[in-house]
Amino acid sequence: MIEKKPAVLVTGGAGYIGSHAVLALLDAGWPVVVIDNLSTGFAWAVPEGATLAEGDIADSALVASLIGEHGIGAIMHFAGSVVVPDSVADPLRYYENNTVKSRALIASAVKGGVRHFIFSSTAATYGIPEKIPAAEEDRTEPINPYGWSKLMTERMLKDAAFAHPLNFGILRYFNVAGADPAGRSGQSTRGATHLIKVAVEAAIGKRGHVDIFGTDFDTPDGTGVRDYIHVSDLAAAHVHVLERLIESPDESLLMNCGYGHGFSVLEVLNAVDRVTNAPIERRPAPRRAGDPPALVADNRRILSTLDWRPQRDDLDTIVTDALRWERLLAERGIG
Ligand code: UDP
Repeated sequence: MIEKKPAVLVTGGAGYIGSHAVLALLDAGWPVVVIDNLSTGFAWAVPEGATLAEGDIADSALVASLIGEHGIGAIMHFAGSVVVPDSVADPLRYYENNTVKSRALIASAVKGGVRHFIFSSTAATYGIPEKIPAAEEDRTEPINPYGWSKLMTERMLKDAAFAHPLNFGILRYFNVAGADPAGRSGQSTRGATHLIKVAVEAAIGKRGHVDIFGTDFDTPDGTGVRDYIHVSDLAAAHVHVLERLIESPDESLLMNCGYGHGFSVLEVLNAVDRVTNAPIERRPAPRRAGDPPALVADNRRILSTLDWRPQRDDLDTIVTDALRWERLLAERGIG
């Protein structure tokens, strides 16, 4: 147990994963300050109880004042751009948002004496993994600018932690989906591209069909395989990592966040059909640029390092929670 919980600065706390991390932190009694430029997030998505500073993570003066004013003891860094095909089309925007701005944020952390830094990394750092499931020590050879933009930040963070009094938790997320089971937050992104979000939008009639991007991959049914992790489980992992970083200031962590099993696009769509008891229209489409055939986490490290245990490791549960949120958004006329 940590006696005195310092305030945590959450970048991207108005976004999908960030807002769930804010909920998990508040639920566990941590003071939270969110910094978000609201480029893709929403002020209303910042949970009540957290302070929102609207601004840019690369604005060193703003970050310095937040660190000073609120006594920030740790940073959780979620802000960034997350769409793989967009990163292929506009790589420099990805290097700007994910790499250059992260460098500025890490510099602000070092300058402001913030001792703990948790970073949202990605399974895209593995590229086409040398083996499935992918383990943390496996080769990292991204096949898209998104993966590179995150891998470069991992490198900066490791080097900064070696040189300065800072420890880090790098979390490589696999495919994050679902929504807060209590309906307090969910994925609200406009023009979403991620599979489960797209599929539940189709299920409630917000779009007419779902494209299946690639049906000839070297996978059991020819469609892409991913390891889908419930966003609330992922958020909980961050709180465990934070506690560990504070308790063990000389230790840093690099961990996959996934359940260790994969589902194909067809299996995901079948789950959505099952949950709604109605079929959504599927259309075979060409592969997307930058998509690997399969990504599944070897999650032995997180399970052996932390007390964290998945609570919602079930595809139908993930879909049910995502669907509930999608209906709430529709009722509220959002998105
Ligand atoms: N996908 C799909 N149709 C969609 C969105 C995604 O077939 O409308 C596939 C995509 O090609 C990949 C998987 O679903 O195999 C997961 O893609 P997503 O964009 O959700 O996440 P990514 O793995 O790219 O981060």
